[in-house]
Amino acid sequence: MKKRIGLLYGGKSAEHEVSLSTARAVIGALNFEVYEVYPIFITPEGEWRRGERLAKPVSTIEELQFGDPTTILENNITDFLIDKQGNAIQFDVIFPLLHGTNGEDGTVQGLLEVLNLPYVGNGVLASSAGMDKVVMKQLFEIAGLPQVPYTYFIRSEWKSDQQAVIERCEEALNWPMFVKPANLGSSVGISKATNRDELVEAIKVALQYDRKIVIEQGIVAHEIELAVLGNDNPEISVPGEIKPVTEFYDYDSKYKDGSTALIIPAELPVATVSSLKELAKRAFKAIDGSGLVRADFFVTDDHQIYINEVNTMPGFTPVSMYPLLWQHTNVSYSALIDRLITLAIERYEEKQ
Ligand code: ATP
Ligand code: MG
Ligand code: MG
Ligand code: MG
Repeated sequence: MKKRIGLLYGGKSAEHEVSLSTARAVIGALNFEVYEVYPIFITPEGEWRRGERLAKPVSTIEELQFGDPTTILENNITDFLIDKQGNAIQFDVIFPLLHGTNGEDGTVQGLLEVLNLPYVGNGVLASSAGMDKVVMKQLFEIAGLPQVPYTYFIRSEWKSDQQAVIERCEEALNWPMFVKPANLGSSVGISKATNRDELVEAIKVALQYDRKIVIEQGIVAHEIELAVLGNDNPEISVPGEIKPVTEFYDYDSKYKDGSTALIIPAELPVATVSSLKELAKRAFKAIDGSGLVRADFFVTDDHQIYINEVNTMPGFTPVSMYPLLWQHTNVSYSALIDRLITLAIERYEEKQ
């Protein structure tokens, strides 16, 4: 019997486009002899649209964006469990290929829990803790993981007293500072500020995306990422280094200009590599991860390590860091997808 997979992609998120690239790549890599694939597209406005069962990979991103209004499920989201003929689909697993809000943040995971469906990747708690940079940092702090200094505020604090917020940043941190929306990814809404004027501008940009803003100490360091794969006893990949040619690893350098070099494995001393592996595992445990995370670090020239974040649904195209790290650890892209599906089912069965 083929495994029935529901692929959820798109999403009401600033990372909608990234998810489409991921979905196309995953569909292209799935073995249609082994899996029956049901695409479920979520529009940028948050409408759920069920597609016909796929019999072969799609060749363009446009093919993933169904236009048939009769497939809109917004009035009853759970209609994705029923095919066009009105028969229930017995999914073996749902693969939420969603990045950012309304997908990587525990909301969709909560829906799938309520529906009692196995799904790939992190659960509700890990997903939401991983999406909120403040909560994530607090959990890392409790776990004793090294981080750069930071502070945060919410929109209403900014509205009532901008001066106080700026002073708080200046007291806690030195220039440059990195200003980030708390709940996002793909560098959307992030800017570097080297003085007060830039800080105010950066805060205004970040506030367009979120009501909670994080300000971090900017550091000069290598950007090193490790892939974590598993449930209770996860495996850790070799480390990879990102060398952006832009001032930092922003949205365009991630997805558009292709100018960023990924060096795998990163050239690091053996002791640093083993510390990074240990810290990546502790970060995964700190958020109670399952399935996968990509753990992002800063490593200075004098080998100081700081954890930046974990991503619970990292970029997942064949040229993304997460799959490439596994490829260098002898796990191919399609083997990785198989492994994630198996882990999802194992986790589901363990809960029953
Ligand atoms: P993604 O989820 O795609 O990895 P993100 O939106 O969660 O990204 P971060 O990884 O926190 O964002 O930051 C994006 C980039 O900004 C980093 O890869 C790095 O280049 C730069 N950056 C972020 N914080 C700092 C910092 N404190 N010091 C120096 N550079 C930073
Ligand atoms: Mg992130
Ligand atoms: Mg992310
Ligand atoms: Mg990152």
